[in-house]
Amino acid sequence: MSTHSPRGVGHLRGDQPFPEAAKVALANPQLRRNLQHATTTIRGKSGRVIAELPDWQELRAAGSALKAYTMGNLPRLLEQLEEKVTAAGGVVHWAADANEANRIVTDLVHQTGETRVIKVKSMATQEIGLNEALEAAGITPVETDLAELIVQLGKDKPSHILVPAIHRNRSEIREIFLREMPGVDPELTDEPTELAAAARRYLRETFLSTKVAVSGANFAIAETGTLAVVESEGNGRMCLTLPDTLITVMGIEKLVPAWTDLEVFLQLLPRASTGERMNPYTSMWTGVTPGDGPQNFHLVLLDNGRTAVLADEVGRSALHCIRCSACLNVCPVYERTGGHAYGSVYPGPIGAVLSPQLTGIKDNPSLPYASSLCGACFDACPVMIDIPSILVHLRNQAPHPRTEKAVMAAAAYTMDRPRLYARAQKAARLSKLLGKRGRGLPPPLHGWAASRDLPEPPPETFRDWWRGR
Ligand code: SF4
Repeated sequence: MSTHSPRGVGHLRGDQPFPEAAKVALANPQLRRNLQHATTTIRGKSGRVIAELPDWQELRAAGSALKAYTMGNLPRLLEQLEEKVTAAGGVVHWAADANEANRIVTDLVHQTGETRVIKVKSMATQEIGLNEALEAAGITPVETDLAELIVQLGKDKPSHILVPAIHRNRSEIREIFLREMPGVDPELTDEPTELAAAARRYLRETFLSTKVAVSGANFAIAETGTLAVVESEGNGRMCLTLPDTLITVMGIEKLVPAWTDLEVFLQLLPRASTGERMNPYTSMWTGVTPGDGPQNFHLVLLDNGRTAVLADEVGRSALHCIRCSACLNVCPVYERTGGHAYGSVYPGPIGAVLSPQLTGIKDNPSLPYASSLCGACFDACPVMIDIPSILVHLRNQAPHPRTEKAVMAAAAYTMDRPRLYARAQKAARLSKLLGKRGRGLPPPLHGWAASRDLPEPPPETFRDWWRGR
């Protein structure tokens, strides 16, 4: 039986519905300026490097086909991965949900006797609320990705998949460092190189003195049992090589069947995400190697609602996502509201289709409406996920208010009966009120018209025109 992500743990559900949270975000002009600047810059960079590849569309099609094949063969491929990781000296753990995954990781850290872990950016661990679970168990997690560190020190939440602190500008970052970073120079300015150097000093000391690391994974190769993390700061490389124990938490959908499949994804991902031809650091490891790198490796395979998503024929392609964030950077809704309004660790168009499926639509009913259905996300997605179709599919599943249901039932009844429909059209034409914005409908329907222009009824219906001829 497939189940959804449990309530009360992790970060897939917001405190407010999207429309209310979006109103708060829209009232913040600084946030909109930061977002507009960042998304425009990334879009431009990404567009230029994508244009260099004559076979970009073929690569997208290959990425999409590989992911569809993986989802169709997931149980077999996961067992193959487990077998290969185990043969290479790793230990595989299966976590049905966030609670189980948190328990497994916490127990593993306790077994090492350590009370601090370093982390390389991992959406899966944010999804399950691992940091909170570790802290509750007396273990201090230290984020090592610069943007994640800014978010953690600022006691904030990430607002972008790739650039979690996209909502902060450099003077805000300086204030956070001065307030929260141990041993920071009080003369610190807001020059990016100085801010980066301050973070480097703090992190280097932490890297060298911490024995346990927790990571995510961008890809896992079933054929070889190899895990891969791609990143651009080198913090991932430090986390994956320096500690004695490495614990990787990975959503079960991150699998690819064969080593050669990486050829496709390692071309798609950096170009679509950061606008780079190749990502600066690609770290790969298979189990443990005596005398080199972590000597204890644990892989936690996380479900947390994914098999429920897989069971939905339309919605399952959301699991093809490689978290490049291209759909966020082109989305007109995301660009104005930012990521916090989505209430989930997965913001933007992919969050609007993934979060409601992982939690069940009842827990996130407003997210499928956080889109204008313009289709820009579909065009930008490097693995061709048809996000607009999934949004419409989920809107159909979302609970609808009773009034809306009654109006739709009445409309269906009327449209089914030609004479009644003709009379209704005539009535609508007579009532000039319909064309007036916000006043075109009586309560409780007036809210629907408050932000929409009702179309003017045409002076002549098709039937009148036909009869006239
Ligand atoms: S849905 Fe597509 S564009 Fe959006 S983050 Fe995932 S892979 Fe990237």
